[in-house]
Amino acid sequence: MVGGTYDCVVVGARCAGAPLARFLARAGKRVLVVDAAALPSDQPMSTHFIQPFGMRILDELGLGDRVRELAPPVTTFVNGLGPHVIQLEFPSGGSCPRRTELDALLLEGAREAGAEIRTRCRVIDLIREHDRVCGVIVEHEGVRSEIRCTVVVGADGRFSTVARLVGAEEYYGYDGPRCAYWAYWPRPADYATTHDNAAIIVHDDDDARFVFPVNRDQLVIGMTFPSTDDVAAWKQDPEGQLTNAMRAHPRFASLVEAPPLSRALGIVKARFFFRRAAGPGWALVGDAGLFKDPTPGLGITDAFRDARALAAAIALGGDEPLERYWRQRDVESLELFHFARDLGEVSYNNPFTQLVFSKCSGNPVLSQRFVDVVERRLSPYEAFTVGEVLRWTFGALLRGRFSVLKPFVRAGKVGGYVKKELERRRKLVQRVLAPPPPP
Ligand SMILES: Cc1cc2nc3c(=O)[nH]c(=O)nc-3n(C[C@H](O)[C@H](O)[C@H](O)COP(=O)(O)OP(=O)(O)OC[C@H]3O[C@@H](n4cnc5c(N)ncnc54)[C@H](O)[C@@H]3O)c2cc1C
Repeated sequence: MVGGTYDCVVVGARCAGAPLARFLARAGKRVLVVDAAALPSDQPMSTHFIQPFGMRILDELGLGDRVRELAPPVTTFVNGLGPHVIQLEFPSGGSCPRRTELDALLLEGAREAGAEIRTRCRVIDLIREHDRVCGVIVEHEGVRSEIRCTVVVGADGRFSTVARLVGAEEYYGYDGPRCAYWAYWPRPADYATTHDNAAIIVHDDDDARFVFPVNRDQLVIGMTFPSTDDVAAWKQDPEGQLTNAMRAHPRFASLVEAPPLSRALGIVKARFFFRRAAGPGWALVGDAGLFKDPTPGLGITDAFRDARALAAAIALGGDEPLERYWRQRDVESLELFHFARDLGEVSYNNPFTQLVFSKCSGNPVLSQRFVDVVERRLSPYEAFTVGEVLRWTFGALLRGRFSVLKPFVRAGKVGGYVKKELERRRKLVQRVLAPPPPP
C-alpha cells in the first residue's frame, strides 16, 4: 500500500520524470515518482543523441560528468545532403548513451536527491476534487491504492495516461511521413581517428542514414525512409534490409561489415504533436506533452529543459506558474518542432536545401550558423538572411536551375507561418503574465 501526501507525484521515471524529480527534491519538495515499468530497463523506442545544450542541463543537475564517463563525448557532427557535407564542431560536446544506462543514472539521480521511487506501479486513474486533480490511483502487483498530492505530473511518454485522463487537447498534430529502423554494431577501435567519433546523418534521395557512437563500444546505425516505401519487406527482414541499405552506401559500408549485435528495432507509424501541458493540479512534461520528429534528436534534451522549467513552476506553487510553464514551453519549442518536421519531410532533400547546403559546405562562417541553431542561439528560421537566400535563389534561377523555385516558395511559406504562430504563442505568455483586470 502506497500512502502519504506529496507535493508532487511524477508519473514516469525516464528522461522527463527522473530529472524533474531530482530538481524538485533538491528544492526541498516531497516527491514520489511512479513508473509502470520494471526499472532500470531499456527504452527501446529511442536512439541516443543528447545535444550539447542537454548536457549542460545535466551539468546543472550534477549528472553531466557521470554521463560523459559512460559514453564517449561527441564533438563532431557530420550533416550530409547528397554530395554536400557540413561538418559541425561542438567543443562542449554531446553524448549518446544507451537508454538502459542513461535512464538508470537519471533514476539514481532522483533517488539520491531524496525522491521516492516506486516501479511496476501503474497509474490507472486520477483523484479529483471539484475540477482539480489532487492525486492518482495506482496499481501495484494487483493492489490498487490512492496517493494524494498537490500536483500530478504526467511524464509518461507519448501515449500518456495522465494526458488522456485530464483530456489534454492536441494541437499542431500531424502523422509522421517516415519509418525508421536501427540496430547496434561493434564500434571499430579506430572510429575516433577515422571518423572523429562523429555523429553522422546523411540524406540521399528520400532516405536518411545515421550513425551515433554509443557506450558499450558500439555504434547505433539506422535509416529512415518514406512510409510509402516497401514497409512489408522491412518488417519481414529488418536486419537484412538495414544491413543491405547501409552496405549500399560508401560512407557506411565499412561500418556494417560484421553482423549486427542486436535485432533491428523499428518505428513505422508516429504522430507528432503538442498537448496542453497544464491545468488545475496537473502538468505534462517530455513526450507526454510534446512529441516531435526524432530526426534532429531533440526529445531527450527538451525533456531535460522542460523538467527544469516545470520544477521551477511547481516550486513557486499555484496554477498560474504551471500555465506559464506550458505557454513558455510552446514559445521555446515551436520553431524546433517545425525544424524537426522540415528535416523529417520526405522532400527534405530538394533542390533548394541542396542549394543551401552547397553554399554552407566548406564555409566556416555559414556552417557556424548551424552550430548556433543546434546550440539554440539562433532560430532555424533566421539562420540565413532574406538577402542571402534571395541572392542564392536568383543566382540558381539565372543558371537555369528552375527546380529551386517551388521548394524555395514552400520554405518561405513555412517560415512565415511559424513566425506568425510564434507571435501568437508569445502573446499567450504575456496574457498569463499580465496582472488580472480590476474587479
Ligand atoms: C525512433 C526514435 C528515435 C529517437 N532518437 C532520439 C535521439 O537520438 N535523441 C533524442 O534526444 N531523442 C530521441 N528520441 C525521442 C526520445 O526518445 C524521447 O523524447 C524521450 O524518450 C522522452 O522521454 P520521456 O521521459 O518523456 O518518455 P518515455 O521515455 O516514453 O518514458 C515514459 C515512462 O512512463 C512510464 N509510464 C507510461 N504510462 C504509465 C502509467 N500509466 N503509469 C506509470 N508509468 C507509466 C513508462 O513505463 C516509461 O518508463 C527518439 C524517439 C524515437 C521514437
